[in-house]
Amino acid sequence: MDRSWMNESHMSPEYEDGVEQFLQFASERGRPNEEGKYYCPCINCLNGRRQLLNDIRDHLLCDGIKKNYTTWIWHGEVTDMQSGSQSEPFDVEMRDRLEDMIRDLGQESFKQAHAPVYEGLQSDSKKPLYAGCKNSS
Ligand SMILES: [Zn+2]
Repeated sequence: MDRSWMNESHMSPEYEDGVEQFLQFASERGRPNEEGKYYCPCINCLNGRRQLLNDIRDHLLCDGIKKNYTTWIWHGEVTDMQSGSQSEPFDVEMRDRLEDMIRDLGQESFKQAHAPVYEGLQSDSKKPLYAGCKNSS
């Protein structure tokens, strides 16, 4: 899929078409939460907040898309590296990344800084991921 539109001005027709392609892709392949919201790849949300597709469209058209988000792993795209062996590659990668961040920042400051991401992950997963470090005060 051609993603050169992501580097176009977000006022350009190519970019607008690309946004529609992205929304189409997300609605077919992505995994919305129970409210029907998807991760928003705009430069403000950075796939850390979930939005309705209509709101994502607004964000992408007004603010722009995160330019280096060329492989849409948060919206159902499987990379060459990930395809095949694991049934849930996104969750595994997400967990690894989250775990690193928690280790780096400390859990409390992480939760404050990234509350939407953290809660999203918690509610997405059926079982607790961090049984060992859930001792909130
Ligand atoms: Zn956004």
